[in-house]
Amino acid sequence: MIGHLYIVAAPSGAGKTTLVRLLCENDPGIRVSVSHTTRAPRAGEKEGREYHFVDVQNFFDRVGQGEFIEWAEVHGNYYGSSKRWIEAELTAGRDVLLEIDWQGARQVRNAFPEALGVFILPPSLDALKERLSGRGTDSAETIARRIAAARDEMRHVDEFDYAIINDDLRQALGDLQSVISASRLQYKTQRQRHFALFATLL
Ligand code: ADP
Ligand code: 5GP
Repeated sequence: MIGHLYIVAAPSGAGKTTLVRLLCENDPGIRVSVSHTTRAPRAGEKEGREYHFVDVQNFFDRVGQGEFIEWAEVHGNYYGSSKRWIEAELTAGRDVLLEIDWQGARQVRNAFPEALGVFILPPSLDALKERLSGRGTDSAETIARRIAAARDEMRHVDEFDYAIINDDLRQALGDLQSVISASRLQYKTQRQRHFALFATLL
């Protein structure tokens, strides 16, 4: 049985990490891919938990070895998702979620056309600015660069299957859970999961 592949994208600060963390706390059936990045760890981030932190040389060695199902430069750093890990999880029937940008999402869709894309939007540009400053983990210069990049990222919302507006956190979490619940009820999935029942009923 093949698991579902979900892609979650958002402009930085829209609340993607917060939403995905809450989603996973409530749904242990979802595995989040841990990307490799050349970005420096933020305070509180741990190697192997948020990311695998590597230098540029190491990153491009991995690119050369075909290790990434997708990779991209985002905000001046490189990020990539492990092909082997994702394929192993999906083949084992587990659902996998990728937190990646629109460039990576395009590459994943080429490899897995059935992947479901979810785009998280902020309720306003002002809210986005406030959230980026409030997080307190980035310098003023980094925040300014990310706000400028947010509009470019959001222009790609039309490449995704679902758009969730993260105004009220609980509502947005419920929306994300609904997307995932609905995908699991697709006939194809239900038939595989309840093979014996379908055989008896039909
Ligand atoms: P991203 O991963 O998209 O960059 P984060 O999840 O780190 O964003 O969220 C950015 C900041 O906004 C964090 O301080 C987070 O607590 C806050 N935040 C997330 N969702 C909401 C929301 N619905 N309302 C208010 N603040 C939020
Ligand atoms: P951050 O540095 O704030 O954790 O992430 C910055 C951006 O990089 C976010 O838009 C995030 O989705 C994206 N990102 C994180 N990991 C990957 C990845 O493996 N591939 C791609 N393409 N983008 C990623």
